[in-house]
Amino acid sequence: MTNNIITLNNGVELPAIGLGVFQTPPDVTTTAVEEALRTGYRHIDTAAAYMNEREVGEGIRLSGVPREEIFIETKLWISDYGYEAALHGFEKSAKKLGVEQIDLLLLHQPLTTRFDLTLDAYRALEKLLADGKVRAIGVSNFMPEYLERLLAETSVVPAVNQIELHPYYQQKEVQSLHAQHGILTQAWSPIGGITSYGGAEKSAFEDPTLLEIGREHGKSAAQVMLRWHLQQGRSAIPKSTRAERIAENFDVFDFELTNGQLAAIDALDTGVRGGPDPDSITLETFGMPIPEA
Ligand code: NDP
Repeated sequence: MTNNIITLNNGVELPAIGLGVFQTPPDVTTTAVEEALRTGYRHIDTAAAYMNEREVGEGIRLSGVPREEIFIETKLWISDYGYEAALHGFEKSAKKLGVEQIDLLLLHQPLTTRFDLTLDAYRALEKLLADGKVRAIGVSNFMPEYLERLLAETSVVPAVNQIELHPYYQQKEVQSLHAQHGILTQAWSPIGGITSYGGAEKSAFEDPTLLEIGREHGKSAAQVMLRWHLQQGRSAIPKSTRAERIAENFDVFDFELTNGQLAAIDALDTGVRGGPDPDSITLETFGMPIPEA
């Protein structure tokens, strides 16, 4: 199985499917990362706020896969926004991961109540990019208003905006803004995890349309969702701590959804977000400090 490779707007190549590690407890992160790399994944998505960067680094080293073959993506947390704080945030993440250079560094959230700090943090990412400390920079959870402000007030177009995106919440307006600016859409909760652990009424894993399409290809609902992302040009970072699911989520390169099947999945959009409204993330509510390395 080979992963699809996506070329970012600055020429850097990103393997489309990565392993996500949000809510993966530190004591199982190393094993999950090793398992994913053994399976063939070459891209890991973590974040300073997940508190498992050290274990991600450990898994990478124990896997024996050369560092340069692995795409490491992490995110700065809002308590490290501002120019100097963001530069220091990079140092903390790099040290915990045990690497000199990070492949993709994102701002985890826009701080809409302190957008000045958000812009200064992004300017720090631009500096890290210019200095070769990161290979690409981007954002996460930026809705159009704030993405447009960022584009107007900074120099480097983000390579990626990582947003909630699964069949029940497709954010087509945000996706078309990305297309206009050459920003890659990267789906978080790509197999609708937030619709099961988030307590939503219906779980995407049980969706009759997805199950039926899966039956036609001998694949699971999760595999159908990942194939839908790939065929629509997105990156997706499914999370699992179970070896069999890590393998299942990577076994998506040997079948093709028809246009009719893609359209049937597009029609599942409810327009209802599973995760928090990005505007509700403030330093007061979510500003926990990120420990030193
Ligand atoms: P996912 O859509 O990846 O779903 C993960 C959930 O589904 C877990 O509960 C997992 O349980 C389960 N699962 C995994 N594979 C399968 C399968 N094949 N069949 C059935 N169940 C399965 O949701 P996440 O919210 O975890 O998103 C993925 C990644 O996106 C995160 O890990 C993180 O890297 C990123 N993310 C980013 C956010 C942001 O704000 N930027 C917010 C949320 C996520 P189990 O582990 O037991 O298999």
